[in-house]
Amino acid sequence: MSFYHGALETISREDLESLQLERLKELVDRALKTDFYKEKLKQKGINSGSDIKSLKDIEKISFTSKNDLREAFPYGLLAVDKKDVCRLHASSGTTGIPTVIYHTKEDINTWTGLLSRSLAATGCSSDDVIQNMMTYGLFTGGLGVHYAAEELGMMVIPASSGNTKKQITMLKDFGATVVHATPSYLLHLYVKLEEAGIKPSDLKLKKALVGAEPHSEDVRLKIQELYGMDVYNSYGLSEMNGPGVAFECEEKNGMHLWEDSFLLEIIDPETGEVLPEGEEGELVLSTLTRQATPLLRYRTRDLTRIIPGSCSCGRTHRRLARIKGRSDDMLIINGVNVFPSQIEEVIMSLKEMGNNYQIIVQKAGALDKLIVKTEVTAEVFTDDTRDLEKLKKKIVENLSASIFIKPVIELHESGSLPVYEGKAVRVFDER
Ligand code: ADP
Ligand code: ZN
Repeated sequence: MSFYHGALETISREDLESLQLERLKELVDRALKTDFYKEKLKQKGINSGSDIKSLKDIEKISFTSKNDLREAFPYGLLAVDKKDVCRLHASSGTTGIPTVIYHTKEDINTWTGLLSRSLAATGCSSDDVIQNMMTYGLFTGGLGVHYAAEELGMMVIPASSGNTKKQITMLKDFGATVVHATPSYLLHLYVKLEEAGIKPSDLKLKKALVGAEPHSEDVRLKIQELYGMDVYNSYGLSEMNGPGVAFECEEKNGMHLWEDSFLLEIIDPETGEVLPEGEEGELVLSTLTRQATPLLRYRTRDLTRIIPGSCSCGRTHRRLARIKGRSDDMLIINGVNVFPSQIEEVIMSLKEMGNNYQIIVQKAGALDKLIVKTEVTAEVFTDDTRDLEKLKKKIVENLSASIFIKPVIELHESGSLPVYEGKAVRVFDER
C-alpha cells in the first residue's frame, strides 16, 4: 500500500473533524470577502468564521448552485486579489454555460497534492508511464492529473483526448503502463485496437484511471476484461478543482473522498434535508482549502451515498459509492422514473453486447417510447437473424424486469454508433 501523505490519509476521525472545523471557519472568513457570499452570510447572522461553533453549523448556510456560479460570473466569487490568481478552469458545460473557477498558486499545489495521493492510492509510482487521454485546456481532466503524475515522478505523455490513431501509436511506442481517460473512450479505443490488429498483450498497460462520466460496475469489469488491466474510478468536478475529489484505492470498493479538503453532506434533492449516513441522495461539497474561489455547500447534483464501514487500505476518509447519475439525468418515461445508469447496467451485463449504446425517448401518441440502440460484438452480428431476434427479446425481458418499461431494441454493428472525444452523449430525449 503506497501513501503520498500517510498521516493525513489515515488521520483519526476525531482529528479529521477538528481539522475540518478549523478549516470551515477559515472558509467562511474567505467567503465573506466575496461579493457573492458577503450579503448571504450576513443575512444568516454569520459575520465571521468564529460564528461557526461546530461542523453542524454549516446547515445554517444556504446552498450554492451552478446557477449562482453563473450569476456571480465573472468575479463575484473571487476571494483574493486578482494578481494572486495564477490559473482559471471551466466546466465542460454539459448542462449549459460553463462555470469558471480561479486558483492561486497554493490552490494548484493543494489540488496536485490531492491527486498525487489519489494516484498513489491506485499503486501508481515513478516506475509508471502515464498516457493522459483527458482533454488539456479549460477542462480540468488533462492538466490536473498531469501535474500530479509529474509530482509522483511518473513519465507523463500529455496526449490529450481524441486522435485515436495517434493514441495507439503512442501506446505502442512509449509503452504506457497507465492511461487516464473516460470509460466510453476506452471502450471505443478497444474497437480501434482490434481493427488495427493489436492485442492488449502487445501493449504494456497495467491500469486505467477512469472518470468524468457515469459508468456502471459492468463497464469497469468489461474494460478490465478486454484490456486485462485494473480500472479505478475517479470522481471530480471543476467546481471542486476537477479530478481528485474522490478516488478509488487498490481495494476498488468505493472512492475515498478527501475530507480534509472537501466537507461532504448528502441531502434529499427534493427537500434539501441532510440525510443520515448511508442513504442515497445528492452530494453537497464545501471547499475547505481553496483560497481563490471558496464555495459553501455546493450542490453537485450527483447522486450517491456513503459506503458504511472502514476500508482495509487504512485510509480513513469516507468512501462514495459509484455515482448513479445527476439528479437532472433522470428520465420520466410513461410516469416511471428511470436513470440511464439503470439501462446501462442491464445491457452491459450481457456478454453479446458491444462497447457503445444510445438511449432515445420519443413521443408516440399519448405515450412515451423508449428506444435502446446497442452495438453487439462482431461474432453475434454475423449470426443468423433468428439469433439476433432472440437476443433482442432477451434484452427487452431483462430491461422490462429492471425498469418496468418495455423498450424497442435496435442492434448495431460494433463501432457504428457515434463516439465523443470527451464525455459520452448517450441520452437523447426527443419529446
Ligand atoms: P460539467 O458539469 O460541465 O460536466 P465537469 O467537467 O466539471 O462539468 O464534470 C463534472 C461532472 O462529471 C460531475 O459533476 C459528474 O456529474 C460527472 N462525473 C465526474 N466523474 C465521474 C465519475 N467517476 N462517475 C460519474 N460521474 C462523474
Ligand atoms: Zn481504501
